[in-house]
Amino acid sequence: MSQQQASPVILCFSGHDPVGGAGIQADIEAIAAQGAHAATVITALTVQDTQNVQRIEPLSVETLREVAGAVLDDLPVAAFKIGLLGSAGIASAIATIIRAHSGIPLVLDPVLAAGSGKDLGDDALLRVIRDELLPLTTLLTPNSPEARRLSGEENLDTAACQLLGMGCRHVLITGTHEQTRGIHNTLYDATGQQVFESERLPGEYHGSGCTLAASLAAHLALGEDIIPACRQALTYTEHCLRHARSPGRGQSLPTRLGQFPRQD
Ligand code: PLP
Repeated sequence: MSQQQASPVILCFSGHDPVGGAGIQADIEAIAAQGAHAATVITALTVQDTQNVQRIEPLSVETLREVAGAVLDDLPVAAFKIGLLGSAGIASAIATIIRAHSGIPLVLDPVLAAGSGKDLGDDALLRVIRDELLPLTTLLTPNSPEARRLSGEENLDTAACQLLGMGCRHVLITGTHEQTRGIHNTLYDATGQQVFESERLPGEYHGSGCTLAASLAAHLALGEDIIPACRQALTYTEHCLRHARSPGRGQSLPTRLGQFPRQD
């Protein structure tokens, strides 16, 4: 049996979060928990704690290209996952790398703000996401504020239509930020839409979006179709949040490793 079938490789482009809630650590843990392997290109270091992001220091574009090239020359990458990008230059370099590997699914988590509200994406970065990355994206996973900001539309159905029109194949808009009793996560594509409901949990979590996007990438790499992949990844993420710990002064950290039931 080939290694790829046994444990598919997901190449993650994400930032480093030193408290281990979000970013690359979330990716590694969430992907390992699905039975897949994370290869990692760190786009940026961040100075942050569980309360706030103070500063981002992006990697140089040259080093990013070299690191990604080393992985892609060696490992059989079965899916890409993108999180925090750090700069428009890095985003554009990643788009060039992914364009050269067409046919490999891409999950794009458009990280535009920290949980504390700090802006993590300027206008130049937004333009590269819209113009260069969305046309390469299999599944875009914005939360509702990110969907509105990327599309310029207030209504989420209209926002999803705009985003699909910019070239991504599927959009999963998470509904945590909406004022609804339960949470409505909605998957949109050319065939229509499907709502996945989940219970609203008390508290705030650091890295919930990263956990979801990384586990989605793993399920796609494992060969699952988009709807079962969404169902599995949303169920897994909810379990991680239910078992979250609060070691710091701010947001809770998801517990991603352990025994989690599948949703069949
Ligand atoms: N990636 C990094 C490195 C971050 O610092 C953050 C938020 O601070 C995120 C991603 C997004 O985190 P979340 O999954 O909570 O939206």
